[in-house]
Amino acid sequence: MNISILTLARQRDKIIDDLLAEELSKHGHTVTVRNFINAGRETITYEKPDVVVVPMPGGQYKLDFIKKCKSWGIQIIVRRGEAGMGIDQFDKLDGERQTMILGNWNYQPYVDLELTWGQEFTTILADRGWNPVKRRVCGAFALDPYFKHESRIAPDRRKTILFATGFPTADCKAEYCECGLPETSSYHEEIYDLHRSARDKWIDAINRLVKWFGHDWAFELKVRPGELTKEYLETLSSAVKVHPVQAPSSEVLRDVDILIHSGSTLAVEAHLLDIPSFNFCNVNPDPLLSKVSPVIESYEELEFNVSRATPGRSNINEDVFHELKTHLYGVIDGKACERAAKHIHEQINGKLVRTKIPNVWPKEVLYHEDKENIFIEETEGCMRWDCPCCRESYYVKPEIDETKCPYCSMVIKKAKNKKESVLK
Ligand SMILES: [Zn+2]
Repeated sequence: MNISILTLARQRDKIIDDLLAEELSKHGHTVTVRNFINAGRETITYEKPDVVVVPMPGGQYKLDFIKKCKSWGIQIIVRRGEAGMGIDQFDKLDGERQTMILGNWNYQPYVDLELTWGQEFTTILADRGWNPVKRRVCGAFALDPYFKHESRIAPDRRKTILFATGFPTADCKAEYCECGLPETSSYHEEIYDLHRSARDKWIDAINRLVKWFGHDWAFELKVRPGELTKEYLETLSSAVKVHPVQAPSSEVLRDVDILIHSGSTLAVEAHLLDIPSFNFCNVNPDPLLSKVSPVIESYEELEFNVSRATPGRSNINEDVFHELKTHLYGVIDGKACERAAKHIHEQINGKLVRTKIPNVWPKEVLYHEDKENIFIEETEGCMRWDCPCCRESYYVKPEIDETKCPYCSMVIKKAKNKKESVLK
């Protein structure tokens, strides 16, 4: 069958979706991997797939997308990009945060199969998520690339420290505004303050380490999906190599000796490569995940630990790692994509539904609510905005800097000194 995999962050999801595509083609399917946001609609109307694989649908754009695909007869498979949470940690969250993890948007009517990581979170989804959805447990997707035996770099270079940041809310760009929190929620503000102060501490600590150890050690920095490199490039010493936003962690990690993170799955990825790691200024709300590496709060402590770490030897907390496998990730054996492909194949095999896909994505105004500032027809005194997501045009009063696209609901920001608009 003809399968389209639609992927989100290049640095996190694309590498996994490519592995999944490889496994699906072993079952005899024709598979393409495209960007969900920028190429999703064209992929459907040009390639006319029988099946699409998408990340967890959140936000109006993605919901509308799968709803239309379903109505044209396309089978919809969801592959969860994140592991979710163990039951003990999940129960400690308030209702709003629980819903955010389960999915704020009801995708149940459109999804044929959902692929998850571990059993425990799958049970939580079955008990409290959108139901009935057929689900299959596959294992730790994000860790599959670490089982591809690619050689690591020459050992005779300077000790290299990777700073993997984790503060996207400090850029105030909740990615594609899909969390769907109520406007009165204090959650965003809380997270913003946490990320802002952690980023300030990191910038200060990195510059101090470069000052004192720059002659002996090399420094690299990689941002988290959804985070920008701008502030780091402006404030950090030029001795720090800042990786481009899209750099996949499984590639960046292979060339470093020590990892500093702020409470991230990267600690487990580093462990699989025998790299010691430290959690500096933790921002991860999951109490289990935050304890995988030694937790460090001050610059002095960081300097002490980093200068005494042994490259080539993991320092993971084995008990926590075991707990993580049992309660969160599921199996870590490099075969999550292989299992996922098998489940997809079983789901779609022999179920060829004749699809009826139009040649052009229907042009319709879906979510137009801002009647004072946005106009669908050309209006005098207004500027034309072209949505970089769905490529439709609309007209906006000149003093407005930010709008929701009335066609696809993406939040679009006016680009400075340019006519075109950009995705926020
Ligand atoms: Zn749009």
